Amino acid sequence: MKKTISRDKLPDLWKTLAGKMQLYLPVQDGPAVLLKQWEEGVDVNLDAVNTAISVKDIFLPREETYLQYHCSGQTLELSEMEDFQPAVAFGIHPCDLKAVELLDKVFMDQEPADTLYKKRREKTTVVALACNKPDPFCFCNDFAINPADAPGTDVMAHLTESNLLLEARTEKGKNLLEQLGELLEDGFKEDQRQNEFKTADFNLSLEGLADNLKSRFDDPLWDELYKSCLGCGVCTYVCPTCYCFDVEDYGHAYEGERFRCWDSCMFGEFTQMAGGHNPRTGRKERVRQRFLHKLQYYPETYGEIACVGCGRCLRSCPVNLDIVQVIKALGGEKVEQR
Ligand code: SF4
Ligand code: SF4
Repeated sequence: MKKTISRDKLPDLWKTLAGKMQLYLPVQDGPAVLLKQWEEGVDVNLDAVNTAISVKDIFLPREETYLQYHCSGQTLELSEMEDFQPAVAFGIHPCDLKAVELLDKVFMDQEPADTLYKKRREKTTVVALACNKPDPFCFCNDFAINPADAPGTDVMAHLTESNLLLEARTEKGKNLLEQLGELLEDGFKEDQRQNEFKTADFNLSLEGLADNLKSRFDDPLWDELYKSCLGCGVCTYVCPTCYCFDVEDYGHAYEGERFRCWDSCMFGEFTQMAGGHNPRTGRKERVRQRFLHKLQYYPETYGEIACVGCGRCLRSCPVNLDIVQVIKALGGEKVEQR
């Protein structure tokens, strides 16, 4: 099913969608573009390269209470969170949707599935948006991602000078477009833009990297590589494929709640155990963990590297200790053939 809506009608589209379900989309918020819930007056920005935090924030919220307990006399009442509203995630770029597929493998594609994540995925319709232009930090081509197409999406959208072109790819996507009725015109009213650009070429060679790293755990390289890291954790928070979280109880004997929130392998307390022992004693061990997880451990378990080339760690790390620098330091750079 193919549909078109002209750009000048997009405010009507947002209003109609938000009247039916929760609508998340890229919003200009000062200098940042954030994936936020639509409300009247927000400045929607579909031309942005990337939102500061990816769509993982919808499926794995940075903080959520999922259990409350109340104790009265001999009675203990537990209430689990069941409030999963239908939602649409609009304007998700192909790299970020690929990252969601990597998260699906961890949270949904094995038993037991993570119920909170799975219910949100099931309730949310994804409208992917083809990139119109990358910035110098985007390198999704290195992971065989096409910036103009997101195979796993419910609806694929293309933004042109005058129109937004929408193509339903799943039943969920078809239902969404059908709900928008006469707001949309049938068919594509112009050709979808052919995005023929290439993303940044950092000269990476990823073939065989995971295997190569198996013998590099004690490589002296780590003794130097970690030194600039400040342990701020920004890289893990902005990364769409990082998914570590912490679970904590808050309250007292009679009532309280259990919540989970994002955590980071770059923080000292991340692996600290109740008795005080910490197997990752310093920043070197933590930096090594972050990069070996993406480049060796995840591929060993799920068959692909846990990076989608979104460029967020390149844009955000205050000391430029990003994944491109680390891959190169580990020998993952193409060698010129003479
Ligand atoms: S690698 Fe960079 S962003 Fe990540 S914790 Fe270290 S300094 Fe912060
Ligand atoms: S490691 Fe960096 S480039 Fe790769 S997905 Fe994470 S933030 Fe994006």
